[in-house]
Amino acid sequence: MIARLRWWWDERVRGRPAIPDGEWRDLCRRLPLLAGYTPQELHRLRRLASRFLYVKAIHGAGGLELDGPMRRLIALQACVPVLGLGLEWYRGWVSVIVYPDEFVARHEWVDEFGVAHEVERELSGESWPEGPVVLSWSDAAGGAEGEEWGNVVVHEMAHKLDLLNGEANGMPPLHPEMSRPAWARAFNDAYEDFCQRVEREEPVAFDEYGADDPGEFFAVLSEAFFLHPHEILEVYPPVYRQLCAFYRQDPARRLDAWQPP
Ligand SMILES: [Zn+2]
Repeated sequence: MIARLRWWWDERVRGRPAIPDGEWRDLCRRLPLLAGYTPQELHRLRRLASRFLYVKAIHGAGGLELDGPMRRLIALQACVPVLGLGLEWYRGWVSVIVYPDEFVARHEWVDEFGVAHEVERELSGESWPEGPVVLSWSDAAGGAEGEEWGNVVVHEMAHKLDLLNGEANGMPPLHPEMSRPAWARAFNDAYEDFCQRVEREEPVAFDEYGADDPGEFFAVLSEAFFLHPHEILEVYPPVYRQLCAFYRQDPARRLDAWQPP
């Protein structure tokens, strides 16, 4: 039964327009995120992105009209973190909402004295627990326009993976062969070091936003893992090893084996 369903699913997805050949070649050339991928990995990613487009709804908001290439660029970047995991890791939510630019998010919270607060922040992305992912198009498009230092789509998808087992606290559901204490040790040590460096206003290798809380640290390091893996390997090698085990990818080794055209 499951094999038949899978066959039906594959046929449904294969029959749909995926990423056209010319556009695909162009994206592979322009996206720094895809540097070093083998043809097999690129093939898998392309299929994954087609499935993403099939199962998720990507809407424009705030006057933004999304066309096919815009949706495909978002889907492709979104699938990089789950290349070694599978699309089922994005279960429990359907929508991606895209604003033209940074958007104002209003958050309410109650402090330890029971006083309610409301804060407004300009954001380039946001992930709701069991709800939509919200993105700014100008930031999401930056992934293909020379923006090499961060990737808002990967950042928000990392939060989605983290949210799978509750809060976005920097501890996503680990694979059975992984050790929670080893993960916690690696990330806690690195987070403490990172926060101290940010506080001392020392230059840091990753976005300072990572010092906000452990959930942001995991998302910021996930961006770096896929874009600048050697930096994590050099600064926080235990974190790099944990990320390799979690994402089931080794981007530093992939880049080492790569012969740029
Ligand atoms: Zn974040």
